[in-house]
Amino acid sequence: MTSALTLLNVSLEYPDGGSTLKALDTVNLKVSRGEFLSLVGPSGSGKSSLLAVAATLVTPTSGLVVIDGQDVSALKESERTALRRDKVGIIFQQPNLLPALTAVEQLLILDHLRGKSVRAAKQRAEELLDVVGLAGVGHKRPHQLSGGQRQRVNIARALMGSPTVLLVDEPTAALDHERSESIVRLLRRVTDEFSTATVMVTHDTEFLPLTDAVATMRDGRLSRALEPSGQPN
Ligand code: ADP
Ligand code: MG
Repeated sequence: MTSALTLLNVSLEYPDGGSTLKALDTVNLKVSRGEFLSLVGPSGSGKSSLLAVAATLVTPTSGLVVIDGQDVSALKESERTALRRDKVGIIFQQPNLLPALTAVEQLLILDHLRGKSVRAAKQRAEELLDVVGLAGVGHKRPHQLSGGQRQRVNIARALMGSPTVLLVDEPTAALDHERSESIVRLLRRVTDEFSTATVMVTHDTEFLPLTDAVATMRDGRLSRALEPSGQPN
C-alpha cells in the first residue's frame, strides 16, 4: 500500500530560554489509506506537535512531510493551503462550531473555497450528517446539540473536502465513556468507508483495539508501533 502520510526524520524545535526544546525529535511515520493509527504518550511529549506538522500548519525545523505523494516543503504557501484544504481533515478536542450557524451551515461555510456548487455541497453535507448519525438535525444550532452531537458535526465538517489524511486530537476528552466509545467507533467506520489515513491522539487506552496500530510519543520521539494484538508492525 502506498503511504498517504509520511514523516521522514521530522524534527521541530522551539526556542526555550537560552537553548532549544525538541518538540519532535527525528520522527518517522507512515500511514496508509484506510489505516487507523492511535497516538499515545504523556502530556507534553509532542503528540499535538506531530499533528500540527502533519496538518501542514507548522513547518518542521528539519525533515520531510509528504502527503499523497507531495513533498510539503517544496510547496509555496498558497499551494500548501490548497493541499491542506483538499487533502487534510482536522478534528480537535473542542468542536469550535460557530454559534450562529446550523449544523448544515457549519459544513458549508468552507466549501465555497473548494469551488463546488452550492447544491452539490448541500447534498454532500446532508449525506455526511447522515453518515455520522445526525440525519434530521441539520437545522439545529450548536446550543441545541449535545456534546457528542457537536463532535459528530465536527467530524462531518472535516470530511467535507474528502480528505486523504484525517488528524484527530483527543476527540473524546470532553465526553463521557459511552459517547467516547461511539465517537471512536464512528472514526473507525469513517476510516474504513472513506479510506482515510487516520491518526488519533487519545488517552483512552481501552479504545485502542478499535484501531489498527498504536504509536507512542515520549520526549518528542516516536516508537511505531505495535498492532493492538502485540505484533510488530
Ligand atoms: P502533547 O500534545 O503531547 O501534550 P505538545 O506537542 O503540545 O505535546 O508539546 C510538546 C512540547 O512542545 C511541550 O514541551 C510544549 O511545551 C512544547 N510546545 C508546543 N507548542 C509550543 C509553542 N508554540 N512554543 C513553544 N513550545 C511549544
Ligand atoms: Mg496535545
